[in-house]
Amino acid sequence: MKRTWLILFFSVMLGGAFFLGGQPNTVKKIADGVWFREGDLKGEGHCNNIVVEMKDYLVVIDANFPSGAEALIGDIKKISKKPVKYVFDTHHHGDHAYGNPVWTKMGATTLAHAGVAAEMKAREPQRWKEAQSRKDVAKLNLPTAEPPKQTFTTSPHVITDGKRKIEFHHFGWAHTKGDGFAFLPEEKILCTGDAVVNGPYNYTGDGNVQNWVNVVNGAKKLGAKTVLPAHGPHGGTEILDGEAAFMTELVKAVKAARASNKKLADVVKMDGKTPKSTTLKLPDSVKNWVGDFFPMQVYDTWMELEKKTPRGDLNL
Ligand SMILES: [Zn+2]
Repeated sequence: MKRTWLILFFSVMLGGAFFLGGQPNTVKKIADGVWFREGDLKGEGHCNNIVVEMKDYLVVIDANFPSGAEALIGDIKKISKKPVKYVFDTHHHGDHAYGNPVWTKMGATTLAHAGVAAEMKAREPQRWKEAQSRKDVAKLNLPTAEPPKQTFTTSPHVITDGKRKIEFHHFGWAHTKGDGFAFLPEEKILCTGDAVVNGPYNYTGDGNVQNWVNVVNGAKKLGAKTVLPAHGPHGGTEILDGEAAFMTELVKAVKAARASNKKLADVVKMDGKTPKSTTLKLPDSVKNWVGDFFPMQVYDTWMELEKKTPRGDLNL
């Protein structure tokens, strides 16, 4: 099951089924010393990256896939001569953490919430092996994913050097058990990882669907003005509101279907083990988040409610 989800996830990503509203492979300055690089989700499956300039060094948000890391390193050379000291993995997924060895090889310290290392321990090397179909992962010639070198359990974990402060927060389990957010309190800029995305990119297979909205609401309390998601274009607080509304409507719609005595087979049509279509509809107000993953999101939510266990623990 786990394998099916991931293959679907990456094949949909790589198959270019999505329209990406932003500007992949471009670096945009968000504030002084803060840059946003939108990943080539449609082509290479890359996540977005953020580069933050400190007094003497740089901090990168998300290690990306190895080829995404290489692309970002090329772009960093054009914007700063400072070395990358920290790379923050927002979670354990390949498009956020499989580039770890690329960064540590050049002297950076990979950093994450302890839940990221725990997820890797539970789910690797299986996924690493499945990802050998990617040339960039295979080229590293390593037996498994490289866990973050430094982890924290007390939230927020803070890095500061007098010039700038970055807080690394964990608000609980939404997209994965190790979900981390990076927040710049002075600039009110929030980097969300995959717990908050701008578009139909919510992968619920490792998630805790019913707790998701609590995590987003926790992040909202930081009072961010600028939101830099890990997939889709950047924006403002409307991205946080939209993500919270989408998750609320998703759970509400699945609960309503179950309460009306429908069976899963009435609501989700399967193609083998893959959810292919669903009869459920969500309000237009959240349509930005509804796309090709929707049948899978309905299925995952249904299973979570049925088994009374977070979806992510059902595929361990
Ligand atoms: Zn992810």
